[in-house]
Order: sequence, then C-alpha cells, then structure tokens
Amino acid sequence: MPHPNDPKLRSFIDVAPDSHFPIQNLPYGIFSARDGLAPRVGVAIGDYVLDLWQLAQDCRFDVVEPAVFAAPQLNPFMALGPKVWSSTRARISELLRNDHPELRDNKELRRRTLVPMADAKLHLPFAVAGYTDFYSSKEHATNVGVMFRGKNNALQPNWLHMPIGYNGRASTVVVSGTPIRRPRGQLKPPTADAPSFGPCQRLDFELEMGVVVGQPSVMGEMLTEAQAEAMIFGFVILNDWSARDIQQWEYVPLGPFQAKAFGTSISPWVVTREALQPFRLHGPAQDPKPLPYLQQKQPNNYDLQLEVGLCAAQMNAPANISRTNFKYMYWSSVQQLVHHASSGCAMNVGDLLGSGTISGPEKDQRGSLLEISWNGTEPVELAAGVKRSFLEDGDSLVMRGWCQGDGYRVGFGEVEGTILGAE
Ligand code: MN
Repeated sequence: MPHPNDPKLRSFIDVAPDSHFPIQNLPYGIFSARDGLAPRVGVAIGDYVLDLWQLAQDCRFDVVEPAVFAAPQLNPFMALGPKVWSSTRARISELLRNDHPELRDNKELRRRTLVPMADAKLHLPFAVAGYTDFYSSKEHATNVGVMFRGKNNALQPNWLHMPIGYNGRASTVVVSGTPIRRPRGQLKPPTADAPSFGPCQRLDFELEMGVVVGQPSVMGEMLTEAQAEAMIFGFVILNDWSARDIQQWEYVPLGPFQAKAFGTSISPWVVTREALQPFRLHGPAQDPKPLPYLQQKQPNNYDLQLEVGLCAAQMNAPANISRTNFKYMYWSSVQQLVHHASSGCAMNVGDLLGSGTISGPEKDQRGSLLEISWNGTEPVELAAGVKRSFLEDGDSLVMRGWCQGDGYRVGFGEVEGTILGAE
C-alpha cells in the first residue's frame, strides 16, 4: 500500500492544487451538519468533510470503535496513541484514493459520509486540557526586548538556554470564527500617576502555531526527544490575543496574566504530525549549545508558510500585514515539550502548547502589531485612509498557513476572529 504522504496519490474527489486539504493532508476536526446529528469527528478532503462516525458505523475501520468518532472532541481518538493515528490515516487515505473502489463506487455510502464543507459547522476540535504559551522566536523576543529594554538588553540572560513559557488558560481557547470581546483591565500608562480600570486600548494578536499533545506523560518523569515527538498528535494555527497595556502594568514579577486570558483562537482542523513529515527541517543553529536534556538530533522545525490579513469593518477584503514561516523558530515544539516535562510536570491528552509569536528576520515577517507598528510609532496602512497601530472594534484578523508540496498544499485553513466592543 502506498504511504499516505506519497505526492503521487490522488483522490476520486476533485481537489484544487491550492486547496489546503488534498489526500496528502487528511486533518481531523469536529463538525456538525444540517442533518441534526451531534458534533462528531470528520476529516477534511477538498471541499468536503468525511464523516468518520458514519464510516465506523458501516464497519470500515478495524481498530477504532464508532463511539470514538461519535465524540464531540478528538481526545478519545488521540488517547489511542500513535500506532492507531497512523493506521487510521492510512485507512482513510485508502478509502479516498481514486484507484480504490470501496467508497468511490458506493454511491449510498458516499452520500452518507461526504458532507459539503459549506454545509458543515466546525467546532473546537479537542477539549483543551491545559494551555501553555511559549516565547520561542528569537526575532520576536529581540524585537520586544529592544522596544522595552533597549538594544543591549534585548534578550534576557535565560532566553538562549531554555524555551521560556507561562501557563495560560484553557477555558478561553475558542475555535475560528468566535468573536473576541475587547478585554477590560487595569491600565496604567507610563504618564499616569495611578491605575484605572477600563477597556484595553492596545489590543493585539500573536501569530503562533499550537501543538496538540495526544499522549500523556507520567508525573515525575522526564521525556527524551523521541518520546516527546511521539506524543505530538498534530498542529493548529493559534492566535494568542494580547492586551499590551494590561500586560505592561501587570506582568511584573510573575508574567502575563489577564492580558492573555480573555481569548485564544485556534484553527478548526488539526493537521497531523505525520502529514507534516515531508516538510521537516533543522531550525536555526543553537548557540550556545543547549544543556544535554534539550539537545535534539532530528529536524524538528517545519517549512510552513504563514500569512496574516487584517480587515477593518469598512474594508471589503483583508490587507496582508505579515508573511512569515514557522521554520524560523529558535526552540522547536519537541524541545518545548521536553522542557515542559523536565521538572516532573505531567502532560495530558489535549494539552495545547503555543509556539510563541512567530516573527522572521525581515520587517514584513513580524507576527504581532506591537512589532509591525513598532509599539504604535509606525502605524500600518491597510487601505486608503485606514491605518492601524493596534486592533479596533469591528476589525477581523485572519491567519492562514500551509506547507507547499510539489503540486499540492498541506494546509491548516484559517483562524479568524472579529473584535467586539467592550460595552
Ligand atoms: Mn503568545
């Protein structure tokens, strides 16, 4: 049987070359359709969602019980582990291949299992057990450091020695399309004598990738590079909405708290680690050499293109404000996971790890408005007469990401969020 990543594979379903969902991808999500059935597990293929629960009901999977795909979250499937993830993906690939008649020639089964994407509502793909956000782009950390501490102290002394992170809130992780209410909080501009409470005035986004942890680790035990890698089920695009003014006043000495707790948006399709395999590459050289527990032998970065569009209420289409690549990250997701468990911290099925804002070396590769507008001093022009330093009510922010193969794209779709007024 051909490997599901084989670039030559084609589905009997027509897939445009710039579609994010060719047969080489097969990302998992949770959907509901107009049939009135409860949200359940599906896979994206071209402009369709393949209903895995219906396929399982029809006994098309050997190892996975229908109940696993009837769940309104991917957690029960993820809990089955990497061997089942892999064999299930191979079986789905086979069912969708243009040279395999089983589904292709079964009109009744196709009718029951292929839902037009346009008719599907996509839900939060997994129950988020815990959410941790890292800070692993050297370019982003340097930009922020230069703005707030000056060129000579841009990176804190610990930054080159470990992936810096903080424990965020799982409760406010939402799926693409969920509006985000402008947060309220304590504000104390440098010029004010005392803090006040009110709507955030410096609302920002952060372009990140999220790792979806699909296997647990044992409390008290460290992870090797190979163990950490095997625990990663897949990736989503993640927008770590940030209130810069709240953050600036509250972050000393324990780090971000309310400034990052009001909303985190993720894309609805979880692209599997296996589907991203052909796009792996080595990250930037790490100097100084990390401590032994953080050293990695495998190429744990990904050549994954990312773009950010911003659409003000008066605009018809988003203006592109950033174009960058996940490959620039200094610390890899595997290193983040190894470091996270290194104290003895237990990881759970459904944990979400934000990569940290992804900024590249060039000016047009910055992953936040804080950097793009250089702390508000260089507003970005979106359209004639429309400028932004930070987000305004009614603004819609869209992030897209994909890996470019030879004639196909393994993509993530998009994560969108529109800002509502604080009221
Ligand atoms: Mn972040």
